[in-house]
Amino acid sequence: MAPSQVFGDLQRRGLMLVLSSPSGAGKTTISRRLLESEDVLNLSVSVTTRPPREGEVAGRDYHFIDTIDFNLMVNRDQLLEHAKVFGNYYGTPRKAVEDTLAQGHDVLFDIDWQGTQQLAEKARDDLVSVFILPPDWHELERRLFSRALDTPAEMNRRMAKATDEMSHWAEYDYVIINRDLESSTEAVRAILHSERLKRRRLVGLADFVKGLQAGA
Ligand code: 5GP
Repeated sequence: MAPSQVFGDLQRRGLMLVLSSPSGAGKTTISRRLLESEDVLNLSVSVTTRPPREGEVAGRDYHFIDTIDFNLMVNRDQLLEHAKVFGNYYGTPRKAVEDTLAQGHDVLFDIDWQGTQQLAEKARDDLVSVFILPPDWHELERRLFSRALDTPAEMNRRMAKATDEMSHWAEYDYVIINRDLESSTEAVRAILHSERLKRRRLVGLADFVKGLQAGA
């Protein structure tokens, strides 16, 4: 993975920050707030076979494609990871992620536990995963139903799925209980900033220290 400039002669490897949660736990809002305030963080825009919801913009929220094109992308190895979620297919276009990392930026992913597992198999050292939980079941229910973006049948299905989704919390590096958006966004920002400073992400550190020891 391409390093990015940090300071002086030291460079930093780009990282992949994954946010996962059951629907309605606040992940999308946290992602949006983070992207607004972080300038070397780019969102990975997924492809999906799900039809667009009202208000969603093609190319910004998702690349909306049909199953034939999705399968073509899978067969051509153009997806970094992919999964079936709620009966629709989702995947992360490989090239956009690689280009972003090559520019020296970090990448934010809003993907489920299946995609996170696949990224961990491919690039564990560059992955930072955060699972976001709702404060309690009633709050989750309230948030899901207040979204009113889906049909009632779809929302019921999602409530049932939320239990299953939450069982994967222990596979993540960090877990945040989203009691309020402000402090949860701050918590994710603190994770991102600390992870950027990890020793193993700093390229050329050994040489830098050698230089110090040699009095250079
Ligand atoms: P929604 O249809 O509500 O936008 O997303 C449904 C679920 O699919 C969410 O949990 C979201 O994180 C997940 N998802 C979105 N894009 C991707 C992707 O590219 N890969 C995987 N594995 N999951 C995704």
